[in-house]
Amino acid sequence: MMIVDTHTHLFDDAFRDDFDAVVARAQATGVEKLLMPNIDCSTLDDLLSACRRHPGVCYPMLGLHPTSVNAGFREELSALRLQLKDTHPYIAIGEVGLDFYWDTTFREEQIAALNEQICWALEFDLPLVIHCRKAFPELLSCLEPYRQTPLRGVFHSFTGEDVDVEQLLSYSRFLLGINGVVTFKKSILPAVLKSRVPIERLVVETDSPYLAPVPHRGQRNESAYVSDVLRKVAEIYEVAPEEAAKVTTENAFRMFCIV
Ligand SMILES: [Zn+2]
Repeated sequence: MMIVDTHTHLFDDAFRDDFDAVVARAQATGVEKLLMPNIDCSTLDDLLSACRRHPGVCYPMLGLHPTSVNAGFREELSALRLQLKDTHPYIAIGEVGLDFYWDTTFREEQIAALNEQICWALEFDLPLVIHCRKAFPELLSCLEPYRQTPLRGVFHSFTGEDVDVEQLLSYSRFLLGINGVVTFKKSILPAVLKSRVPIERLVVETDSPYLAPVPHRGQRNESAYVSDVLRKVAEIYEVAPEEAAKVTTENAFRMFCIV
């Protein structure tokens, strides 16, 4: 059973002491591909060296995270953009998006940064990995002009809250990223998924080091635990874990064009 963790920040300081062991544990559980979204310029070196240590396993994305957007975002974007040469290692533009939960000071800047990075995704034919928290109306306004374009990607960390899932699913080239939230006792996500989302629209992720699934809730999350997310997804759709793994893994390979 092969699983892809489509969203994992294993280059984070939280893994400074045992990164290689964390990757080995993931592989031992069948998690053979680890897709890593960038945060900002300050994380790029750590991200790239993590991916160089494990070629064919760890894959980097390039992007500016909405919580890293501030008054200097134009310079930050220019520096990141220089990475996109004719040959580059990036499998996606991510993570990008809008986050008005923590702070709305740079609301307009977040929107401008998202718009620019949507253009990169189209220009370089890369999927977009989107983070959205308390900003779905604004996100949907940003995406609307691109409905008829080849823009594709993942709505990462989908929780079932704050947005009508039909509006996200109406973007037919987009998938939903499901993480440990699906295992939380009070989550509405299992009910939303079962009643309204075909399993064919899903990929699984951890968002390590955050959002560890039950039974690891509250601990540091790591990619091996994506198997707990996968098992919960299988239970919701009443299919074997192997079947849930097959569907979500094929989705990930197709979306991110990894081999
Ligand atoms: Zn993330």
